[in-house]
Amino acid sequence: TSVPRIQLNDGHSIPQLGIGVFKVDPAQTERIVADALEIGYRHIDTARIYGNEAGVGSALAASGVPREQLFVTTKLWNDDQGTQSVFDAFDASLDRLGLDYVDLYLIHWPSPANDRYVETWRAFETLRESGRVRSIGVSNFLVPHLERLLAETDVVPAVDQIELHPAHQQPATAAYAEEQGIAIEAWGPLGQGKYPLLELPEVTDAAEAHGMSPAQVVIRWHLQRGHIVFPKSGDRARMAENFDVFGFELDAEEMAAITALEREGRVSSHPDDVS
Ligand code: NAD
Repeated sequence: TSVPRIQLNDGHSIPQLGIGVFKVDPAQTERIVADALEIGYRHIDTARIYGNEAGVGSALAASGVPREQLFVTTKLWNDDQGTQSVFDAFDASLDRLGLDYVDLYLIHWPSPANDRYVETWRAFETLRESGRVRSIGVSNFLVPHLERLLAETDVVPAVDQIELHPAHQQPATAAYAEEQGIAIEAWGPLGQGKYPLLELPEVTDAAEAHGMSPAQVVIRWHLQRGHIVFPKSGDRARMAENFDVFGFELDAEEMAAITALEREGRVSSHPDDVS
């Protein structure tokens, strides 16, 4: 399978489909990432706070997949926002991953209560200049956070990784990001299993029509909307299922029915409430 790539605003590109490892037990991470790489995944989304960067790194090292074929994202945790603390946290992440660069480094949450994301972003700009990070981006930034970053700093984020699934599509943030050339990464693409997305008729009807699973239909909806996604599963059969989404296409009506599921149904915290 050849996964399409999304062009980023800094000249780099990212595989549109990957695997996320949020809440993946550190002891299981190496096995899960090894399975994912065997299935064909080349894009891995982790974070310092997940506690499993070392497991990701071991799997990457053992896989023999050439570095240039991999796309690895990690994220700076809120406690480490600042300047020197960013450089130290980045060095530690790189070390745990066993890499000499990461493809994408993200500010995990804006944490407006700490009021350090502008300073943090300047440190990210410096990291990018060092070549040890190819692309820099943000996560959980809403329009006001993006506007402030764009007004006060030089580099436009390559991506904004936000909670996004049919019940919570964040149209304002997505539209602003598109205007500014910021690619959208959809986290929790399956709604984290927190509402019965995979049982809704809008999803199951399309699944039946195409002979695919409900999860495949939802992943396909994201891909056709242009989002970058990395659904999480620790189960090898599901990982393979989630990767097998390039042999069918939802038609305009099926897309519209799923898009109509919007109901401002956030399943996790509001970014302004996370410090
Ligand atoms: P998700 O929407 O990917 O849902 C995962 C759930 O769906 C799990 O319960 C899993 O068992 C189930 N599932 C997966 N494949 C399935 C299938 N084929 N059939 C049925 N059920 C299936 O949620 P997520 O893991 O939170 O999000 C994906 C990734 O996004 C994370 O792993 C992480 O990398 C990233 N993320 C980022 C943030 C952030 O703040 N930046 C927050 C949460 C997640």
